[in-house]
Amino acid sequence: MTRKLFVTTALPYANANFHIGHIMEYTQADVWVRFQRMMGQEVHFVCADDAHGAPIMIAAEKAGKTPQQFVADIASGRKPYLDGFHISFDNWHSTDGAENHELSKDVYRALRRQELIDVKAIEQFFDPEKSMFLPDRFIKGECPKCGAKDQYGDSCEVCGAVYAPTEVKNPYSVLTGATPILKSSEHYFFKLSDPRCIAFLEEWTQSPGRLQPEVFNKIKEWFTKDEEGKGGLGDWDISRDAPYFGIEIPDAPGKYFYVWLDAPIGYLASLKNYFGKIGRDFDAFLADPEVEQVHFIGKDITYFHTLFWPAMLHFSGRKTPDHVFVHGFMTVNNGEKMSKSRGTGLDPMKYLGLGLNAEWLRYYIAAKLNAKVEDIDFNPEDFVARINSDLVGKYINIASRAAGFLSKRFDNHLSGDLGVEGRSLLDALRAQAEVIAELYEEREFGKALRETMLLADKVNEYVDQNKPWELAKKEGMDAVLHDVCSVCIEAFRLLTIYLKPVLPALAAKVEHFLRVAPLQFADAARAMGPHQIGAYEHLMQRVDAKMVEALFEAPPAPKVVPGGEDLAPEIKIDDFSKVDLRIAKIVKAEHVEGSDKLLRLTLDAGEGRLRNVFSGIKSAYQPEQLEGKLTVMVANLAPRKMKFGISEGMVLAASHADEKANPGIFVLEPFPGAQPGMRVR
Ligand SMILES: [Zn+2]
Repeated sequence: MTRKLFVTTALPYANANFHIGHIMEYTQADVWVRFQRMMGQEVHFVCADDAHGAPIMIAAEKAGKTPQQFVADIASGRKPYLDGFHISFDNWHSTDGAENHELSKDVYRALRRQELIDVKAIEQFFDPEKSMFLPDRFIKGECPKCGAKDQYGDSCEVCGAVYAPTEVKNPYSVLTGATPILKSSEHYFFKLSDPRCIAFLEEWTQSPGRLQPEVFNKIKEWFTKDEEGKGGLGDWDISRDAPYFGIEIPDAPGKYFYVWLDAPIGYLASLKNYFGKIGRDFDAFLADPEVEQVHFIGKDITYFHTLFWPAMLHFSGRKTPDHVFVHGFMTVNNGEKMSKSRGTGLDPMKYLGLGLNAEWLRYYIAAKLNAKVEDIDFNPEDFVARINSDLVGKYINIASRAAGFLSKRFDNHLSGDLGVEGRSLLDALRAQAEVIAELYEEREFGKALRETMLLADKVNEYVDQNKPWELAKKEGMDAVLHDVCSVCIEAFRLLTIYLKPVLPALAAKVEHFLRVAPLQFADAARAMGPHQIGAYEHLMQRVDAKMVEALFEAPPAPKVVPGGEDLAPEIKIDDFSKVDLRIAKIVKAEHVEGSDKLLRLTLDAGEGRLRNVFSGIKSAYQPEQLEGKLTVMVANLAPRKMKFGISEGMVLAASHADEKANPGIFVLEPFPGAQPGMRVR
């Protein structure tokens, strides 16, 4: 029977590009999904950007963009990572999409009908300058326990204390520096403490195969009340006050769903969006009891996915997850804090940019993964060793050792006989297909790859015993040589099947080389049979350790310039071209009455009109020194109203960071030949 699988990874927050943790999770899910597809299962693998919440609203404001624009810009940067690492999502959507607005409201209304929504007034910090309620992380102050300054509103990084923002001493708003005031507001709560929810979750979490044992044990702690009756499941605050970037709560003007309410619903929204594209019935699919809903997530968001999420789904009359697969974090060099000199961890884009093969990383990650909630570590030496000695040394070499003889002596035809010893070797390889498939199914990828490499060892032993390079020199041994090389190629095909979930691009090259249809797991049971294969082309390079070193080299430190000022953060050429610099002629320069800093400049930038610009260069120049000279002006700066009139641009000048200690201002002047109006680029 064909399984019907709806698979997701956690939704990444749309305020930054992917880091290595995302790539690790996507690789884990992708290997599992590709394995299922190779088994002939029906799989729908989707994800989306988690677009809502205060942090994105504020980041967008800082960037001078609407939140919609801001998340669209982040979304447009996703593809190079996903394609680069061969992550085969069927759909990528956004929690700000129409489907998610719709579904979130539907879920909420259903919970309200079940009387699982409560409204309570709560007191919360409010920034009077910004006129908004402040999330805990936007409040700082002194730790109520140890007195450390500049600690977040929810916890102290110095003593580790956890507290409410109202306990912080001398609190201030991170946004404006203003002292926040306490203000009461009505909040909406999902009644997770309702006996119906508790009864449901107790049963749901215990269902066999749904959660890993260690995850279940952790959840039990959350359920349990202590001797004083504290702990246990509390109601969940699902609303935030305007201004907020999110989905408005039905019948509650000015109230929005807290981002964590609509984020997981984004899984459904992405599937619905995808089904809209391929013309499938979303409701019918999810109503099908045979559909398995599978979420891959990191250990940090277990609470949301094993308590809130199933309860929300169940009490809104929807299907609940069949499996929540939790993984640990990815560390680099045993979690050693990356110092500046060693860079800042493993940047996936830098990895691809240096020309490192994405499948090396997929192989390495898969080789380290198991079904437990364990952190895995990227160790550069181990990485080089595993790729060069296992993947290339044991597996790729089998094909390269045999292909030359087949091409030179047999016109790339495979033999039909293979010999007794060869057939028994291939039988041994085929016999492991079920074991390896079971390991992929159980997400024991490390074990699946170890089993496969043990088989590769057997093939290499066979090659070493039969010595094709000696057979090739002996008279009358052609048929044996032909058999041995054909066995190697068939063995290589079998190993490729076992590795294909991890190495899809390599497998596609092998399929082309062998002239076979895309390999499925069932192809392990069938022989390829005698036919003519293609010419062998190099399939995979060894890792050069220097490339891995380059991956961890810190970017060059900003140079300390004579001005004693650090370089501003790096910008893109697009950022620079936003500044329109023009050559301008200083037609007139004069003192400004009442100002001891400014000169009034009349500039001609070839526009058929003159501009008035105030410039703080009086200490360095007499007006007559400047008149008639050319300089460089920022021509598209918004006009600024100053005490003495409107300034319609800015003249460029160099100065020391500390002007008091090192006085001197130097107006820029172009080389001879420049004309007013020319753009400086
Ligand atoms: Zn403290």
